[in-house]
Parts: sequence; C-alpha cells; structure tokens
Amino acid sequence: MSVRPSPLGILGGTFDPVHYGHLRPAVELLEQLHLGEMRLVPGRIPPHRPPPRVGPERRLAVLREAVRDLPGLRVDDRELHRDGPSFTVDTLRALRKEEGERPLCFALGSDAFLGLPKWHRWRELITFAHLVVMERPGHATSPGGEFGQWVATRRALRVTELRERPAGRILFVPVTQLDISATGVRRLLARGESARCLMPEPAWRLVAGRGWYGYPQV
Ligand code: ATP
Repeated sequence: MSVRPSPLGILGGTFDPVHYGHLRPAVELLEQLHLGEMRLVPGRIPPHRPPPRVGPERRLAVLREAVRDLPGLRVDDRELHRDGPSFTVDTLRALRKEEGERPLCFALGSDAFLGLPKWHRWRELITFAHLVVMERPGHATSPGGEFGQWVATRRALRVTELRERPAGRILFVPVTQLDISATGVRRLLARGESARCLMPEPAWRLVAGRGWYGYPQV
C-alpha cells in the first residue's frame, strides 16, 4: 500500500514586508494540518494590487531572515525568477508536477479569499491544490452568491479530508487573530517608528540596519 506523503503548505504573498500576521498562522497551519512543510512564496509583480514598496531582492532577504529560526517554514523564490506577473495558478501547476500525488494546501487570508474570483484562471486553482482559508481580523469569511455556491460544494469539514486526496477541497481554519498588516508596518516605518515585535528580530534588524521602507538608518 502506498503511503501519501504529508501535505505541502503554500502561502503566497507580497511580503512587503513579512510580519507575524503571516508567520503565526503559517505555524498554526503547519501544526494543525500536520503539513510536512510550509512554503512561503513571495510574488514578483502581484497582479491584483499596487506594486510592492520595495524590490523583490529586499522582500526576499527580509523573508529569509524571518524564517531562519522557524522549523518547517521555508522560502520558495520561484515566482521571483519568472517573467511577467506572478500568477498563483502557474505556481500551483508547477508544484503539482513536482510533487506528484502529494496533497497541496494553498493557504490564504479571508481578505484574499473573498477576492479570489478576480484572480487569473481562479477555478483551476482547486484542481491543483486544496484551499485553506485563514480567518483574518475584520474580514468576513463566508462569501455569498455564485462564489458562495462554488465554495459550499467543495467545503471540507475535517482536516483529515485534506489528506485523502491531492486537491479539490476548501477548509476554513480559525487562526490566532493578529491585527497586523504590511500596510500598517510600512506606515510605521515611514514615520520612523520601529516594527520591533511585529516581525522576528533578525528580519527587523535587517530592515532597520539598511534603512529600508524609509526607516532612518541606524
Ligand atoms: P498589505 O497590507 O500590503 O496588503 P498583507 O499584510 O495583507 O499586505 P500579503 O503579503 O498581501 O500581506 O498577504 C499574504 C497572505 O497572507 C494573504 O493571503 C493574506 O490574506 C494573508 N495575511 C496577511 N496578514 C494576515 C493576518 N494578520 N492574518 C491572517 N492572514 C494574513
């Protein structure tokens, strides 16, 4: 009997910059869903939003510092090497090819999830991976209308359903509610205030030491 490998988690984002609102939920999914690994995948040119405040190399460098001491979290920089916009569907298709039948769990916050129908070829996402929705402060999680119907027919009620097949289910997971956003972090830094304790210390030291995001260089 073949044993399916433990699921692979994927968290895409701009990470401009990374903060504990990304990292704590990522750790919780790693543990609650018994993932083999959680990959953080920074995007180069996000198709759905304004361009990031700093370039890909800086966002990547801060992210690498942030996960340095977090077992099970890894950075996957594939989107930064691709030309053109970063389409999640292309990343998931590539991962599916690499990982065979391994369950893939694509995680996204409730804000991002509600905007899913605007994503490039969004209906295909679920053919490559499960969707795992992390409830985020201030954002409703239950969509209505046609999208709500689409979600309801694919909804998983138990974590174990994600291990039973490689893709195709949608699971809602309550995570620790951390009202932290990269927008808020950038705002602080631009005012010359620190982001200490909003991100891991090594990541903060890199940002402060280089004077990125308009923070006065120390
Ligand atoms: P910005 O403020 O620049 O829009 P952000 O803080 O939302 O950025 P992103 O890199 O855009 O960060 O987010 C990547 C993913 O992480 C998205 O799916 C988003 O919903 C999720 N996420 C970000 N912050 C949180 C949080 N505090 N709690 C739960 N999920 C989050």
